[in-house]
Amino acid sequence: MASSPADSYADVVARIGRAAQAAGRSPSDVTLVAVSKLQPWEAVAPVLAAGQRVFGENRVQEAQERWSGKSEGLTLHLIGPLQTNKAADAVAFFDVIETLDREKLARFLADEIEKQGRSPRLYVQVNTGEEPQKAGVIPAEADAFIATVRKTYGLEPVGLMCIPPADEPAGPHFALLAKIAARNGLAGLSMGMSGDFETAIAFGATSVRVGSAVFGARH
Ligand SMILES: *Cc1c(COP(=O)(O)O)cnc(C)c1O
Repeated sequence: MASSPADSYADVVARIGRAAQAAGRSPSDVTLVAVSKLQPWEAVAPVLAAGQRVFGENRVQEAQERWSGKSEGLTLHLIGPLQTNKAADAVAFFDVIETLDREKLARFLADEIEKQGRSPRLYVQVNTGEEPQKAGVIPAEADAFIATVRKTYGLEPVGLMCIPPADEPAGPHFALLAKIAARNGLAGLSMGMSGDFETAIAFGATSVRVGSAVFGARH
């Protein structure tokens, strides 16, 4: 077992490389988003020192507190639900927002993007398991939502994101996300976490969001 964050990080990078090769893909086609939410700086610093430059955070304010003044050269992803009253801060701070999932949020983001002249890359979150407690558009509404985001709000998402139900095999959810992305002409697939990122890579993930396997359990 790897023990330090630097060792765990190297192990995850190697596993991503092997999973990509096993799927006939190039390791460089899969981006590791290191999910640093709720981790102490002592766990994050060694991973940053080891060269990781892409990090994921769940909350706007926590991300600002952690990364303000340190974000030069980094790519920061918002992977948690976004309230419209935080849309301005999110547009100002993040390079990627992965959780666009409703029309009101599309409207707020489009307004802020125009106002600030700053355009974070956007993913549409799809609730593939149709879980009531989870954010995301349901699969049956995904095509219409993506069309509205494009036509009504002038936003061009780069991909789709999902979090499969914890108690089901993830593969079918990843396959569904890939299918929705393909028929909507979206290249990006943000899917796979600590427990299933190798499966996600086999199903075409272009970006995996890995927290505890890199940094250790969250407190
Ligand atoms: C916390 C979180 C992750 C990382 O989860 P791990 O199981 O620790 O890898 C990935 N994606 C989202 C949306 C999360 O909230």
